[in-house]
Amino acid sequence: MGVFPVLILIMSVQFSAKVQSASISSVKVVRPPPAKYASNSKFPHFLPESFEQWTDDSDDNLWEHTGYLEGDIMAYAGEDRNGILNKTLRWPDAVVPFYIDEDDFSKDEIGVIMKAIGEYHEKTCIKFRSYTESDKNWIHIKGDRSGCWSSVGMHKEGQVVNLHTPKCVRHGVVVHELLHALGFFHQQSATNRDEYVKIHWDNILPGTEHNFNKYNETIVTSYGIGYDYGSVMHYSGKAFSKNGNPTIEALQPDVELGQRKGLSERDIAKLNKMYRTSCDRNSSESSEDNYDDFFKDLINLFG
Ligand SMILES: [Zn+2]
Repeated sequence: MGVFPVLILIMSVQFSAKVQSASISSVKVVRPPPAKYASNSKFPHFLPESFEQWTDDSDDNLWEHTGYLEGDIMAYAGEDRNGILNKTLRWPDAVVPFYIDEDDFSKDEIGVIMKAIGEYHEKTCIKFRSYTESDKNWIHIKGDRSGCWSSVGMHKEGQVVNLHTPKCVRHGVVVHELLHALGFFHQQSATNRDEYVKIHWDNILPGTEHNFNKYNETIVTSYGIGYDYGSVMHYSGKAFSKNGNPTIEALQPDVELGQRKGLSERDIAKLNKMYRTSCDRNSSESSEDNYDDFFKDLINLFG
């Protein structure tokens, strides 16, 4: 057992003691069984050269270079293209059991992941907690597969969120992939996106046009909050460009596309609205303060 599981164990016990006020003797950090939704052999496991060339100074986003569906979405054979309106893809009670694979990440990298999770705790009603043996669904955060990717929404019997080390272990990337896992597609897939952005099809790399699909209203919704140029889920302006010219242009002046700093105000509002019923239900059963304390302590340990 490495340092991290020991710390998690300590924190889990303290956390459980505070939140559950119940027997804590059985709480321990356990490695989940292999996730049912891990990677799909249909998809290439090599990464485009552009992934290796990407740097923090690049205009576009790292997750646009992973080479999976729409850059970084892991889809599975026989699976309908369901989206955020499908309630079966949401995490019950807005609680997400997770396990960070200690084999794949350094202490500093685990710190980056924990801080991203901490942003959700701080700004949204979603609660992440350590995986336990009784959990039926969970996120296994790995770093040993190619690219940064996640499936969209909750998948039963475990799902991998992959953060290719060291490149994908960046705050904005982690926040982005977790938001996929919570149930969000990319912002420019919105039904009404053509009212907000112009897609320059002539500049798109041939064969990658599917990355600019949009979904109809039976699949996705903006929850009445509207289009968000500043979403952490928005492609950059030059995503999948064949010539360095823009592929997406905002129809309003002076807006930035494809920020990767973290959750936008509208990301937060939409997420809280998606999970409103669950959050309302569990808010009386758990103390947000205690969850927050748990994460602050953990972040301090790794910060
Ligand atoms: Zn993505």
